[in-house]
Amino acid sequence: QGSTVGEFADLLGVPSGDVIKRLFLLGQALTVTQTMSDELIELIADDMGRKVRIVSPEEEFAVVYNDKEEDLKPRPPVVTVMGHVDHGKTSLLDAIRHTGVASGEAGGITQHIGASVVDINGRQITFIDTPGHEAFTAMRARGAQVTDVIVLVVAADDGVMPQTIEAINHAKAANVPIVVAVNKIDKPGAQPDRVRQELVEHGVIPEEWGGSNMFVNVSAKQKLGIDDLLETIILQADVLELKANPDALASGFVIEANLDKGRGPVATVLVQRGTLKPGDSVVAGESYGRVRALIDPRGNHAKQATPSDPVEILGLSSVPTAGDEFRVFEDERDARKLAEERAMRARLKEQQTKSHMSLDDLFNRIEEGTTELNLVVKADVQGSIEALRDAFEKMDQSEVKIQIIHSAVGGVTETDVTLAAASDAIIIGFNVRPTAGARKAAEHEKVDIRLYRVIYQAIEDINAARIGMLAPEF
Ligand code: GDP
Repeated sequence: QGSTVGEFADLLGVPSGDVIKRLFLLGQALTVTQTMSDELIELIADDMGRKVRIVSPEEEFAVVYNDKEEDLKPRPPVVTVMGHVDHGKTSLLDAIRHTGVASGEAGGITQHIGASVVDINGRQITFIDTPGHEAFTAMRARGAQVTDVIVLVVAADDGVMPQTIEAINHAKAANVPIVVAVNKIDKPGAQPDRVRQELVEHGVIPEEWGGSNMFVNVSAKQKLGIDDLLETIILQADVLELKANPDALASGFVIEANLDKGRGPVATVLVQRGTLKPGDSVVAGESYGRVRALIDPRGNHAKQATPSDPVEILGLSSVPTAGDEFRVFEDERDARKLAEERAMRARLKEQQTKSHMSLDDLFNRIEEGTTELNLVVKADVQGSIEALRDAFEKMDQSEVKIQIIHSAVGGVTETDVTLAAASDAIIIGFNVRPTAGARKAAEHEKVDIRLYRVIYQAIEDINAARIGMLAPEF
């Protein structure tokens, strides 16, 4: 895990004294032979204007991408659309896909590859086609960060609803900025300003009111405000200064995959770094192969795909899973070897899934340096959630900070488990039960679900767990 200060300096080609100095300024007095944590490596590299990406260290082919500032070129933003059911996510994606396309051409873009690209004033935006936070968080749980901006759709005649709040919390947990599309403004009962007021209560504050979120009024049905929304996404992306190195062997993530009767395994990947070309030797999760053809979102054969481009790959040995990493290798044998190794490791992992945070384990984790306890709280009534929040605020949080990353009225669902797994959180349920699906997912992901009937019992448990005095559960 990590590398020593000396190794890191060598990798970047800078004197180790420079690294030591920067570390010192961060309050980390390390010597040349001491090991830097992954966080420190990223922080210092960033500080020096370098971009490094730490790839899972247990992999035999572990690589640290070491891009110099001058290698980094601007890249288009990648966007996911979220929001409450029926607020118009699908309609909005449809409307967006049809912008800038003359109606006669419309037939040419019906091809579905799991993502689409649109051009606005000569700038590209990539949209992930699976709307909703479930797919988003499921990918994040697998280590895939594929979204730069989230478009939160809220219907102006309905306002903030439970899944709106869920989406906000999923976006916040992933640290991705939110652009709000206030939809259905064509409806007689539309109250776009009320949507703004309601969102303020959830920490999503319009720029015009001094906050940091951009809002756009739209009608997906009448295609009103769509260009405005796209321009706003570009504005938000410009703030992020998105960059990547296009001159490297390609890597990124699988966003969709299936077995096609005629074409065999087909995977849609999002290129995040480098340039992907037909003939490349690629690994995607546990599958591998030579890229036989690349198909772009308009259904055309592509000569190449560069950072933020979604593209279909033909020629893989099997069907990978959404969220799998893909990577190109110079040598086809290396690709195959890594794929086989991953398959073997997956089988091993199945037998011993790494547990996520649990109350039983909290004390040990604190001893090891954990400073946060993330909670997902589900309850039968809002009052219980508030009571719990109050109780936490009064608790001694000097050693471990207690954060409720999501709370809602209702039973524990599979989505809650996915969020907890992605954020290493514990789920607390008051007078509610998990669904069968949630129970199964929690068992599989080793997520700790704690069910309580009274509040003080939960407080007592967390207090006891903090100091390592939690009574074993029978
Ligand atoms: P999703 O569940 O969020 O994907 O929502 P859909 O896109 O399926 O839309 C739900 C319903 O709202 C459909 O009947 C749409 O026709 C309707 N709808 C979506 N956008 C608008 C809009 O801007 N105006 C009006 N009046 N109806 C809309």
